[in-house]
Amino acid sequence: MSTAFRTHTCGELRASHDGERVTLAGWVHRRRDHGHLAFFDLRDRHGITQVITNAEDAADAHAAAEPARNEWVVQVEGVVRARPEGTSNKELPTGGIEVAVDRFSVLNPSKVPPFYINEEQAGLDEALRLKHRYLDLRRPLMQQRMLLRARLASAIRQALEDDGFVEIETPLLIRSTPEGARDFVVPSRVQPGHFYALPQSPQQLKQILMVAGYDRYYQLAHCMRDEDTRKDRGPEFTQVDLEMSFVGEDDVMASVEGMVTRVSREVLPNRPILHEPFPRLTYAEAMDRYGSDKPDIRFGLELVDLTDVVRAVDFRVFTEPIAAGGAVRGICAPGCADYSRKQLDELTDLARRHGAKGLVQLSVTADGSFHGPAAKFLEGREADLLVATGASAGDLVLIVADADSIAGAEALGHLRLAMGDALGLRRPGVLAYVWVHRFPMFTWEAEGQRWDATHNPFSAPVPEDVPLMESDPGKVRAQQYDLALNGWECGGGSVRIHQRPLLEQAFALMGHSLEGMRDQFGALLDALEYGAPPHGGIAIGLDRWAALFAEVDNIREVMAFPKTQSGTDLMMDAPSPIAPEQLEELHLRIVEGD
Ligand code: ASP
Repeated sequence: MSTAFRTHTCGELRASHDGERVTLAGWVHRRRDHGHLAFFDLRDRHGITQVITNAEDAADAHAAAEPARNEWVVQVEGVVRARPEGTSNKELPTGGIEVAVDRFSVLNPSKVPPFYINEEQAGLDEALRLKHRYLDLRRPLMQQRMLLRARLASAIRQALEDDGFVEIETPLLIRSTPEGARDFVVPSRVQPGHFYALPQSPQQLKQILMVAGYDRYYQLAHCMRDEDTRKDRGPEFTQVDLEMSFVGEDDVMASVEGMVTRVSREVLPNRPILHEPFPRLTYAEAMDRYGSDKPDIRFGLELVDLTDVVRAVDFRVFTEPIAAGGAVRGICAPGCADYSRKQLDELTDLARRHGAKGLVQLSVTADGSFHGPAAKFLEGREADLLVATGASAGDLVLIVADADSIAGAEALGHLRLAMGDALGLRRPGVLAYVWVHRFPMFTWEAEGQRWDATHNPFSAPVPEDVPLMESDPGKVRAQQYDLALNGWECGGGSVRIHQRPLLEQAFALMGHSLEGMRDQFGALLDALEYGAPPHGGIAIGLDRWAALFAEVDNIREVMAFPKTQSGTDLMMDAPSPIAPEQLEELHLRIVEGD
């Protein structure tokens, strides 16, 4: 990578360059002085090379190097030589050589950075990192993450293009396309009182591209949703967005699975994919077995339905939820019978935080009886419970009963994850992809007294469930699929409704009036009347995927310029007030809040 400033990068030189005259440019990573000798580790994103100035051999270069400190940008010229016996550095690809410098130029000095670039600091303040993101991103660890993300994006593009997808960009200034969050809006200067919405996703546009005949579209799409920032989602994120024509559920899943498998192998050749093909669970099965619609299937500890086993037991904690149509479910935590009071209380707290009314804990003693506050209610049922849960002496059985079967399963699902963590079962090296499909199409919104789409309002019902749209909407399953990886939702999509009357019926169930529909989805509704092919697609969260690949639990670690939890860009200082003239031009007036 020779340029006007260098002949090689700082990661390029090897023993085979011995004797060559070279010019390098980069940042001073570290400097060590030994009187008439000064050693510099010179760094760029390609690597680190050791260069040396020697007062005796090259007095001018040595003097020019004297002021250079960490993070100064310098250029050096000299001759590559093998390092003396016993001094090579096995850690560095360039560790067998060094450059004996005879010309040293400072290209730009640097202030002392507010944190170390050349070593990892524990507890480094995130706000400080974000404020000086250019320095944070210069840290080798962050550079590795950014490069990993770039490799991931590139592999995705390659795989999709090989599978016939074409990249089409869609605009950022659009009309609202709902994905269940608030829109960010942009006022129009030329049309007073009118606003664009920033896309929550290119959903309607990609469907319209199918109507336009593009067959297979993809885009690494920027999406913006004005919602409270969570660890795994910011106000702004990137999706691998795609849509396909003339497909059913299986076609989309197969294409995506092919791409995901290929990309995983290419980008992380050393991390095995746990199951190929990816297992497919229906939503109902995922909730029953894992208490989650994004199950971590790297480990077992599956939920067991104990409703029938305890139906006849005289214990209010069980009988009331069962009578109300709920369920009793348990998991077995192997070897945890000796958990302390404190550990058990923490588990109860965790279950409560996730919506459980309480947690029944039973330690299995050496003779197979139960120990715990609820044990006396279960006398005589021990053997059946042990068989059902697979528990034996030394294990801990955790049981949640809830009138709301799903809520109970979810609470227990969180306990399962916590036990997976505690028992070291969530092996970080493994990639466990799993499909979850056949979600309920609608959920009941008690507040608005209407049905709402569980995914997005364009998802198609499973064909045999169409008649239920009128009779029992809560039972309609959608042709909708989510891809989960190691317990994170990694992507989701659906086969769409491509016929206007059915879409109108679904919208009506969701409480949209005809005018409301026209207002929000007019373009798509119109397009569906001009020969819309059957189609479906998916969007995969690139940030989450990159975070999982980089083994970090926060997507900000794999985004170059993320916002804080409160949606602030600390480096650019956004959002910020705008000048009164700008407000004037935009026909806006700020109403001071209370
Ligand atoms: N637009 C959807 C989303 O952002 C994905 C899809 O259905 O393709 O979640």
